[in-house]
Amino acid sequence: MATTGGCHCGAIRYEAEGQALTHALCHCTDCRRHAGAPMVGWTMYKLDAVKVRNGTPKVYASSEHGRRHFCPNCGTGLFFTNEKVLPGIIDVQSATYDNPDSVPARAHIQVADRISWMERAHELPVFERYPPQQ
Ligand SMILES: [Zn+2]
Ligand SMILES: [Zn+2]
Repeated sequence: MATTGGCHCGAIRYEAEGQALTHALCHCTDCRRHAGAPMVGWTMYKLDAVKVRNGTPKVYASSEHGRRHFCPNCGTGLFFTNEKVLPGIIDVQSATYDNPDSVPARAHIQVADRISWMERAHELPVFERYPPQQ
């Protein structure tokens, strides 16, 4: 069974075949800066398990060997590859799944880089939508 997903504008669609090898929430500075978000969820697959079915992601060299693949139209981050550190592997941004509930996250990684207030973010007040207006 394939997991499907894509970018916000719909130009890029992908399929990931089989089970993800892992699913981690990454707090590293590179992920945060590229996503513009306090952390990024990544599922890991063998490179040949993930097929782009629609569109062509743009590839950005975010470090010497790190490559971030994103939609050139809407900017959604989709994939990460690093042939040196993770040969034959592709990471998929799990929030781009059509059903992001399908593969629960299993760990926080790179917490050495974590924004300090993210450590206790689960303790913040929660609202179904927005806080009540005064
Ligand atoms: Zn797009
Ligand atoms: Zn990261």
